[in-house]
Amino acid sequence: MEDFTWFLVFVGRPNAGKSSLIGKLTSVKPVIGKKPGSTRRINIYNITKKFEVVDVPGWGKIHDRAKSYEDLVKDRIVEFFEKYKFRIPACILVIDAKSIIDVSKRLSKKGIIPIDQELYNFLRENKIIPIVAINKIDKIGKIEAEKAVQYIKKLIDYDNLPEEYQEAVITVSAKQGTNLGVLRDLIRKHLRNNDVEEFERYIKLR
Ligand code: GDP
Repeated sequence: MEDFTWFLVFVGRPNAGKSSLIGKLTSVKPVIGKKPGSTRRINIYNITKKFEVVDVPGWGKIHDRAKSYEDLVKDRIVEFFEKYKFRIPACILVIDAKSIIDVSKRLSKKGIIPIDQELYNFLRENKIIPIVAINKIDKIGKIEAEKAVQYIKKLIDYDNLPEEYQEAVITVSAKQGTNLGVLRDLIRKHLRNNDVEEFERYIKLR
């Protein structure tokens, strides 16, 4: 059989906490807290020959760069998903709870679809239903966190999601470890559902 690589994908806007979550849940050691927006490459980290972790930056406004550069980044991301969508047993969309409400409201006032919503819809169009990890809840209070959750649920048309995916919208804190056990179990479940449970052992908390 041809050598086949499976991808565990973390996607989300720069600074949402993708690298932090990858560092907590896998043996990969990514650089954390790079300058936001400085890295727009798709980073692929090798866990085994057959299982790799992928850090996909969200597209969107890039400071000091021409529109054509933004488009190039977007094209690369679209190409990646279109090419590999059948090799992605689990995809985690990481959203920064603190900034989602401010940023999204500002954008929707201007009639622009929030990037996280655009990303989510794009994944769904590619038949990928991501686990949604609403990160950095340590930075906000309970009421604000609940607001962020409700807002995101609206963006992703949560009420019409299949039941098994409704449980996959969770709040986490990569920094404090909140709900990372739940996230780990969800990722493992998705691996199992896609018959690649042999990789479950690589997803553990550290
Ligand atoms: P990425 O660009 O999506 O890979 O984000 P990083 O993992 O590099 O994180 C960006 C910044 O947010 C870093 O300074 C992290 O330490 C911080 N960060 C990540 N997760 C959390 C979290 O849950 N809570 C807090 N307070 N900070 C976080």
